[in-house]
Order: sequence, then structure tokens, then C-alpha cells
Amino acid sequence: MAPPEAVLTDHAVVVSDGLIREIGPAAAVRSRYPGTSRIELAGHVLIPGLINLHTHAAMALMRGLADDRALMDWLQNHIWPVETRLVSEGFVLDGTLLACAEMLRGGITCFNDMYFYPEAAARAALSAGMRAALGMIVIEMPSAYAADAQDYLSKGLAMRDSLKNEPLLSFCLAPHAPYTVGDRTFERIAVLQGELDLPLHIHVHETREEIEQSLARHGVRPLARLQRLGLVDANLIAVHAVHLTEQEAALLATKGCHIAHCPSSNLKLASGFEPTPRLLKGGVNVGLGTDGAASNNRLDIFTEMRLAALIAKGATGDPTLLPAHTVLEMATVRAARALGIEDRVGTLAAGKSADMTAVNLTALELSPCYDPLSHLVYAAGREHVSHVWVNGELLVENGRLTRLDTRELAARAAYWRERIRSRD
Ligand SMILES: [Zn+2]
Repeated sequence: MAPPEAVLTDHAVVVSDGLIREIGPAAAVRSRYPGTSRIELAGHVLIPGLINLHTHAAMALMRGLADDRALMDWLQNHIWPVETRLVSEGFVLDGTLLACAEMLRGGITCFNDMYFYPEAAARAALSAGMRAALGMIVIEMPSAYAADAQDYLSKGLAMRDSLKNEPLLSFCLAPHAPYTVGDRTFERIAVLQGELDLPLHIHVHETREEIEQSLARHGVRPLARLQRLGLVDANLIAVHAVHLTEQEAALLATKGCHIAHCPSSNLKLASGFEPTPRLLKGGVNVGLGTDGAASNNRLDIFTEMRLAALIAKGATGDPTLLPAHTVLEMATVRAARALGIEDRVGTLAAGKSADMTAVNLTALELSPCYDPLSHLVYAAGREHVSHVWVNGELLVENGRLTRLDTRELAARAAYWRERIRSRD
């Protein structure tokens, strides 16, 4: 990914103390570093670790619990009742660990999370060795985690204070959505935003219903309301942004906003098609997210890359839009830019953190290979990921997790299935 569109063949990456030191022709590098331990991956492509720009990791425990429903029915009658009854630190820790295992094996090295008990999610990410952006969630709905908006904010700030020196973690303000957060709370968030200068991670314009409801309650569309509250700027990561007028797309571009595009979730909940090519052309930075496993149901950026490319073509009638390289940028460097961590990750370059994913292109279904970029987006899947490093640490080796115990994770998943199923 650096320089743009470069596919370097027979190259080596030199890593020490978590950082990429050098990238160069393999033979020359090998002679300069004799006796250094090395991993040889013939027939593989090495890419920057994939970044999941929007998820609710702990919802991995609710995968497949309620499918084939409209967003509000799904939330109000299925997801929120389980969350009210069961969400706890233990739930979030176990659910996020499960999600980390899935994401790592799928080549994802960093995720942007929004969920209750973000401190438990942070602990899960750290024990998995993954990079994460933790959302300081705010929702005007009491939960076991927090009683009201002020309580959510206080807990989020305390979480950030206790973890801000962790090199693998970064933080976002994460009001859930315009329809679940009131103006007074948004005003407080705008003040915090001014002090902390953090990304603002929020669902926006996901469904038509949300926009109609905002017009009825507030007299304006949700994005206009956020703008009125001073929250539309270069820190905004608008999740979904499916329904946008020309003026709204232009506003997002002018203000330097970012979008987390979640094609699978938008398709599954029948939210619509985000106008990605138009947004990118206008200069909006778009990254890719999976959303939670309850509305996808995979935490798989390979699926999102392929879908993003196909939807852009199918929805516009123009097959030249969103070529493979642009899609790979959305899954890596563009997502890093949205999170404000582009100086550390998103490309393979000397001085950056060694967050890397190796994809085995020797499988029969990927043979022959004319262009690794084409295969990454259109043909390969997460099953072809062989090795994954975060901050130089090898976390997946030949498809196997090196840190996490898959049997233990499966046992915890089975435990939570029973808890969720039983109505007690
Ligand atoms: Zn979401």
C-alpha cells in the first residue's frame, strides 16, 4: 500500500521491537541480516493488517440469535432484551475474546469497537494481543453498565484514563446514534470533543425510518442535527451513512469526515446501499466495517471487501468503479486514517508498527495468480490467511492462534448460549 499500487515481488520485511525497520529485495536483506530468525512465505502476499472500522465485538455471543428482521424489531424485541438481562463484564470479556479469535484468524489486526463495558473489551483485546479503538459508549438507555448519559460518559472517561498508556489501544467518543442520544448529551460530547480531540464513532443515516423520525422529532435530518450541535468535522466516523442527499455527501467531504461502510449489515437489515463511489469521488474517506456478528453474521473483512466492490458496480451499472486497490485501501490505510492512527499502521513502511497479514495464494482455487490485488478482493477468503502479526508479535501461525485457547473460547461460548437461551 506504500507507495500506492506497489506490488513488490521477492521482497522481505525486517521487523524488530514491534516495528518495520526495512523493506527490500529478499536476497539483499538476507545477506545484510545473517543469523536473524526468519519466516519464509513463498507464494504468499503480505499486506497491512486489515482494520475493522466498525463492530460491536462482544455481540459475537449473539450471532444467529435473531435473523431476518427489520432493524427496530431486531433491536427492540431481540437484542436489547438479551442485553438488558445478561450484559456484564464477563459477557463482554468472553464475547470480545471470541470475536478477537475470529478476527485475527481472518487477518484483522485492529478493530473499532462500540459496546457496553469497553474496559472489558480492552482487556480482551490486550490479552489477544490485538490493536483496538475503544468506544466510550453513550446511549440514553439504562443498562447494567451505566445508569444514564452522564454515567456512561464518566465511565468512558475513566476507562480511557486507566488505559491511555497502552500502546495498542486508542479511544473514540461513541454516542450510539442520533435516535438514541438527546441534544443535551450531544452538547456535553461536543465540549469533550473540543478538549480531547478524539474520533467520534456514531451510527448515522442507517435507515430511512431513522431520518423520518428525526424530521418528526427535531425538524431536521440526523446529519443536520449533528452539524447544528457542532459534531460534523474531521473527527466524525459516520457508520453506515446509507441515505445521503447530494448536499449531505458534499458536507461530509468538505468537513473531512470519515465513513465506516458495512455492506453485509446494510444488506442483511435491508438498510440500503451506501453510495461509496460517489463519496470517494467527492473526497470522503471511507473504510470498511463488519458491524456486530448479530447483524452480519461474520466478522470477516474479506467478505466486506468483495461485497463493497460488487455492490458499487451493481448499484451504479458501472463495473469500473471501486477497483480492487481502492477496496484494499478501505480495509487498511483509509480505516487507519479514520481512527487517527495512520502514522502507526495501515501501510507496510519502515517506521510503522509491524501489523501484517500473510495470505497464502498457492491454494488451487487461487491458481493461477496474475494479480495478487485481484485475488485478495475477488477470490481469496479469510481461510487463506496463514500468518498474522500485531506490533511484531506473531499471533496466527499457519492458521493457528498462538495466544488464545480455542477450546476455552468454545466452552465459554457454549456457556453463554445456555444463559441466553434460558429465560430465567
Ligand atoms: Zn453497528
